[in-house]
Amino acid sequence: MAKRNKVSVKQISAKQVSAKQTSLSPAELDSLILKEAKALHPYLVDVRRHLHRNPELSNYEFETTKYLKKELSKFGLKPFSLKAPTGILTELTGAKSGPTIAVRTDIDALPILEKTGLPFASTKPGKMHACGHDTHMATVLGTAKLLSGINEHISGNVRFLFQPAEETPPGGARPLIEEGALINPTVCCILGLHVDPRVKTGKIGLRDGATMASVTDIDVTITGSSAHAARAYEGVDAIVVAAEVITTLQRIVSREIDPLHPVAVTVGKIEAGTARNVIAANAKLTLTLRAMHDADAKNALKSIKRCVSGICKSYGATGSVDVIAEYPSLSNTPHVNQCFAESFTALFGKGRVVETDQVLGGEDFACYLEHVPGAQVRLGIRNPSIGATEGWHSDRFVVDEEAIYYGVALMTKTVLVALESYA
Ligand SMILES: [Zn+2]
Ligand SMILES: [Zn+2]
Repeated sequence: MAKRNKVSVKQISAKQVSAKQTSLSPAELDSLILKEAKALHPYLVDVRRHLHRNPELSNYEFETTKYLKKELSKFGLKPFSLKAPTGILTELTGAKSGPTIAVRTDIDALPILEKTGLPFASTKPGKMHACGHDTHMATVLGTAKLLSGINEHISGNVRFLFQPAEETPPGGARPLIEEGALINPTVCCILGLHVDPRVKTGKIGLRDGATMASVTDIDVTITGSSAHAARAYEGVDAIVVAAEVITTLQRIVSREIDPLHPVAVTVGKIEAGTARNVIAANAKLTLTLRAMHDADAKNALKSIKRCVSGICKSYGATGSVDVIAEYPSLSNTPHVNQCFAESFTALFGKGRVVETDQVLGGEDFACYLEHVPGAQVRLGIRNPSIGATEGWHSDRFVVDEEAIYYGVALMTKTVLVALESYA
């Protein structure tokens, strides 16, 4: 791990935490956490496989929500009422007073036809948990169950967020925040997790500061005028204008952005024209802009607007640039990463925490971090012996389920450590 900066909150060693909270020695509490996480593992594998068989797309996670509510109620956790039809917010009250911490999992699947051939593969053709959110749900459910069983060791409250629609901008994080997920009282920090096929099972990945990109989804609409295909001079060809816009957009990253700053501008979809023999009056470009630094996203958006407006004007067309959705970049709080790292090392020994690379993928976990400190840990799921090597969103994405055991123990211990450090 990179050297961490000092932070203003109270620093505490993971080894010290339990002595203050409980009559158990730190080592005894750690062994209890490991024993309980191991005992829960077969149940959580069943939970994960049930969710894997029954994936639901963003904002349609009705059965998933129902199932999770039923499981949470088995250990006494009641959901708050929400305006949103899917997703759950619930809170575990610790035996002793202290701050409130949040733990978040996403719950949605992707529109992908599964090709893993697993016996518990998706039963819904064209839908698949190919980003590991089934594993996140099982891990956070397991954490809630484990913590509710060792309630006497909790100094504070633990709020669990089962968040819909991570995969589909504008995402489910902001609606949950608007429903008060982070306030009354304001949470001291938020813990998130994401499975990572680059990291071996039994290890975790962390990175301080900017880790994932901001996302700006943009629609560009170009309006020309139609004419006969052989009399183009009587119209304004929106396809030719669109082609020029696309070519010019490629120069933004290479000529207008500091090459040391990661930025991507991608036109992922074009819709234009009605027939072979008609000059197209309209063209629509569907873009995504990714940037690790939010200032670069702002500058690149300005450049996109300038290019569209200038090129359209020069051809006698009109153009508009509409931002459809935005997530900020995801910037992890070093202190919360430190809580993760110390907890994992205390439980499983040294040499199991790696520093992950920055990625230009986006995550609406970033929206919570605009309001409160927090971090998203990368949970290792890589295991070549069972084919768990495929990248996220692949139709052959496989998770090593042993990771759930490591994840539950890690999240449980980190909740205790972080609550103590923010007390
Ligand atoms: Zn994903
Ligand atoms: Zn994901």
